[in-house]
Amino acid sequence: MNDFLRHVACQTGATQLHGQDLETIQINLGPRCTLECRHCHIGASPRRDEIMTQDVIESLLRQLPDTACRAVELTGGAPELHPSFQPLVENLTALSLRVGVRTNLTIHQEPEMAGLAPFLRDRRVALTGSLPCYLEANVDRQRGAGTFVRSIAALRRLNELGYGITPELPLDLVYNPDGASLPPDQTRLEESYRQRLRAEHGVEFSRLLTITNMPIGRFRADLRRQGTEEGYFALLKASFNPRTLDRLMCRHQISVRWDGRLFDCDFNLALNLPVTTDHPDVSALAATSVTRRIATGAHCLGCTAGAGSSCAGALAA
Ligand code: SF4
Ligand code: SF4
Repeated sequence: MNDFLRHVACQTGATQLHGQDLETIQINLGPRCTLECRHCHIGASPRRDEIMTQDVIESLLRQLPDTACRAVELTGGAPELHPSFQPLVENLTALSLRVGVRTNLTIHQEPEMAGLAPFLRDRRVALTGSLPCYLEANVDRQRGAGTFVRSIAALRRLNELGYGITPELPLDLVYNPDGASLPPDQTRLEESYRQRLRAEHGVEFSRLLTITNMPIGRFRADLRRQGTEEGYFALLKASFNPRTLDRLMCRHQISVRWDGRLFDCDFNLALNLPVTTDHPDVSALAATSVTRRIATGAHCLGCTAGAGSSCAGALAA
């Protein structure tokens, strides 16, 4: 039994974690990104070139109507870089699915992406953009020089189109800590973000989502370099919160990787820890049990620490 399951068993008596239903399918189109952030769990960068093949996309589109899921989220890397990004969005909206995109924001400043934001606006695609602080120095330290200024320019442009202003065009921002600590209270931090971004940059957004840095990928390598890996795991264990267990994203979603492999979440995807079914492949998506046993590891302690963490932010007060 891993450290995470030991904590679950100790608090609830359950020796395994199981799925509950299927609310969202996350589609990871590939790890190619225009940025190379310090905390990236996927290890995304401009040098990665894996992308979801057309065969996987077609299989996915065939399977989706036979699942219970009504929402899909496109992620990466920068999903917008996939050559079939726009046709895929069209196909997903034609299936009457709610479509969301996780964006690095700065992609909207690339000259060849000028038409991207109006395209998304016209199809009512929800956006979730990473902005780990309202201070320029902190964002640039995590995500690279000049990222903050370009993110703010992108947010202003999205606001002009109605994103973050009208309820039909949600624009959520994502905060993650700048090191080996847990996020602060989501509601209070959202208020600070709103005041600072409005007053200093004239920027509006819908919600702030706080996310804990997962002890995997580049962030874990950073912890090792700084000799803080053990201390970080100790913090996650000491902060285990059983009230987060019901809403863990793995219990309500499936992630499809660019090569068609199926995972319980994007973190397991990064760790190459597939779903525990006999056929963890997109061709078996509709047949994949929603109550399957979830593949877990010590990294899962990142989702259950403090107020909890997921792609939709904090999980419990
Ligand atoms: S964290 Fe997001 S924006 Fe940064 S490198 Fe990874 S995928 Fe790209
Ligand atoms: S890392 Fe994935 S599998 Fe583990 S608790 Fe978090 S969402 Fe669930």
